[in-house]
Amino acid sequence: QVGSMGIHYDLTERKQLEEELATAKHIAEEARQAEKQFLANMSHEIRTPLNAIIGMSHLLFDTQPSRQQREYIDILKTSADFLHSLISDLLDMTKIEAGRVEVHPRVFDLSGLLRATQKVFEMKLEQRPITIDVMLDARVTGDFVGDDVMLNQILLNLVGNAEKFTEEGSIEITARVRKEEENTCWIEFAVADTGIGIPAEKLGLVFQKFKQVNPQGHKHKGTGLGLAITKELVELQGGTISVKSRSGQGSTFTFTLPYARANTLPDPKNSPEY
Ligand code: ADP
Repeated sequence: QVGSMGIHYDLTERKQLEEELATAKHIAEEARQAEKQFLANMSHEIRTPLNAIIGMSHLLFDTQPSRQQREYIDILKTSADFLHSLISDLLDMTKIEAGRVEVHPRVFDLSGLLRATQKVFEMKLEQRPITIDVMLDARVTGDFVGDDVMLNQILLNLVGNAEKFTEEGSIEITARVRKEEENTCWIEFAVADTGIGIPAEKLGLVFQKFKQVNPQGHKHKGTGLGLAITKELVELQGGTISVKSRSGQGSTFTFTLPYARANTLPDPKNSPEY
């Protein structure tokens, strides 16, 4: 008798606890969603006036400012640009965490994209003792199917960091075919620099949000979000990313992505829907 009552009591109590836990989880999830929504809205609200500030500061240059005024406008522009990249990172991260970023594959010219990245940075690095090279394995030719916008963002983040943390030497972008299966071509990309490097004990932290690991970090403005976003973008596409580095010698970020070769896709003319 007593035994069975005990069991009955246990069951009721357990059920109650489970219900309370479920309610608590529900409240926590709602709060998380509300926070994400708030961040996303704010980011949009901030972008619009910010774009006006950036646009106007560019226009001010055309109004024949004095040397002193030019200096002020320069500060205005630099600050607005920094705020813009900060907001962009925050918005990107918010979107990713809310599960609102999707992979959009399309046919694109991979080697062309890599050369375009090289050109962009060649211009930026013109006045500095840093060369930028692209090396492709012979099989990285032709059209591929993948999200070229995401690949572009990943490369801009990694090469942007390489440029930020390198005083002199070189930045090398390489791409090679790692494995080729029937429908999937795994391409390994690497961005290597001869910069300040990352201390061994900090290597595990660089892909975490808001982490800035170099002791000279204060010299470089940043959000600490770039690599966290980069990792998410790689993983969203089914890829992986890693880093090797030596303090004072440089860093190499390597990521692998699966693509289809455009010429292996069925010809749409032969498909029934055509
Ligand atoms: P941010 O560049 O905005 O600080 P990231 O997430 O892009 O944020 O990078 C995180 C940190 O990792 C950087 O602050 C820097 O300390 C380190 N780091 C990233 N890339 C490099 C690199 N190529 N060389 C040296 N340190 C790097």
